[in-house]
Amino acid sequence: MSKLVVIVQCELVTRRCSGYNCMKAFTQRSGKMEAYPADTRYMAINCGGCCGAGIDVKIENLEKRLAANDEKKEDVVIHLSTCICTENHHRLPCPFKNYLKKTIERRGFSVIEGTYISKTATQRRAEGIYQAWKE
Ligand code: SF4
Ligand code: SF4
Repeated sequence: MSKLVVIVQCELVTRRCSGYNCMKAFTQRSGKMEAYPADTRYMAINCGGCCGAGIDVKIENLEKRLAANDEKKEDVVIHLSTCICTENHHRLPCPFKNYLKKTIERRGFSVIEGTYISKTATQRRAEGIYQAWKE
């Protein structure tokens, strides 16, 4: 089975963001999505809301669906969307980012921080208008 990229988006941000730029980064293999083979699949979920505890049951559901379809966890990469990881025009970084990451990793999945990289936000980080990106 081909690789599967799962993007976790911030529930607060998804109230106002369609996730288009995350999809675009995946489709164009840009930002934090550069290295994936052409046949890689893509899906998006949200974190389940603050404090992020709701992500566990979603990842458990993903685990079950993968097992039922003979898919391996090793073929799955989970990205925390950029708006979870760093300051952007929607909001400050998620205060529960590390908790989300550890909760997902605890179930044996690889986690990458970031998806779409905005040129404007990168410039604002360089100018000190936005906080520096801390992984
Ligand atoms: S990274 Fe950008 S496009 Fe993706 S969910 Fe966050 S705000 Fe939306
Ligand atoms: S836990 Fe973080 S990612 Fe989820 S809704 Fe709250 S701020 Fe957003």
